[in-house]
Amino acid sequence: MNYRCPVCKKALIRKEKTLVCENRHCFDLAKSGYVNLCRNFKPTQGDNKEMVASRTAFLEKDYYRVLADEMVAIVRQMKPEVIFECACGQGYYTRQMKAAFDGEMHAFDMSREAILYASKKDKESSYVIASIFDLPVFDESADLVTVIFAPTAVEEFHRVLTKEGLLITVGPGADHLFEMKAAVYDVPYKNEDDPAVLEGFELKEQRFVKDEITVNSSEEIQALFMMTPYTYKTSEKDMAKLRALKELKTQVHFSICIYQKKVC
Ligand SMILES: [Zn+2]
Repeated sequence: MNYRCPVCKKALIRKEKTLVCENRHCFDLAKSGYVNLCRNFKPTQGDNKEMVASRTAFLEKDYYRVLADEMVAIVRQMKPEVIFECACGQGYYTRQMKAAFDGEMHAFDMSREAILYASKKDKESSYVIASIFDLPVFDESADLVTVIFAPTAVEEFHRVLTKEGLLITVGPGADHLFEMKAAVYDVPYKNEDDPAVLEGFELKEQRFVKDEITVNSSEEIQALFMMTPYTYKTSEKDMAKLRALKELKTQVHFSICIYQKKVC
């Protein structure tokens, strides 16, 4: 599959270590194989090195294995030809899904640090620095789009999906990390996990997967917390409670929504 030039929207053709369009806009492939097709790229956008390292330390311990296994099972059953993994981060789910089917896996993320890590670790998928709201691809070019714990770029996903293509979104289920919240907050709340209504899509199925994990170091507990939105809105007093935890047994609970693109 050819990417689309982010400047003039013509096809990018590979010439040795470069992708080039007919208007001679050039994009070099990095040594690890990824390409930066982000318009107005800023090195500081997306997760920084520290965030990527912390997330990697947590995910690579397979605490979220139950979700990875379910995504692999879905891909194995669907047998798509082309997957776009949007907001792929360091590629933890990407490379496992790629191993489950024979087609093309293209993964996009804003963070250069995350894409750099992913492209070093996984030589089977194609990694691209790009905004998921402005994908450097042509219309109707993937039959599956996946987005795990990231915003849903509804219009853009609708544009890039083939007719009747599928969109899979993953977010927290009601009980996700409830015991972690109970350890930190006086009044912990369960998550809302009703499926979102997405314009141009029909919800085919919502399924849940659940596990119980024991996180047994202070560093990993903090890494887990940093992966959540709570990290931005927690007081110093509550953060101190988190830092004091040496072990955390908690539920992980994921909501997986499968939508089909409506044919107009
Ligand atoms: Zn161009």
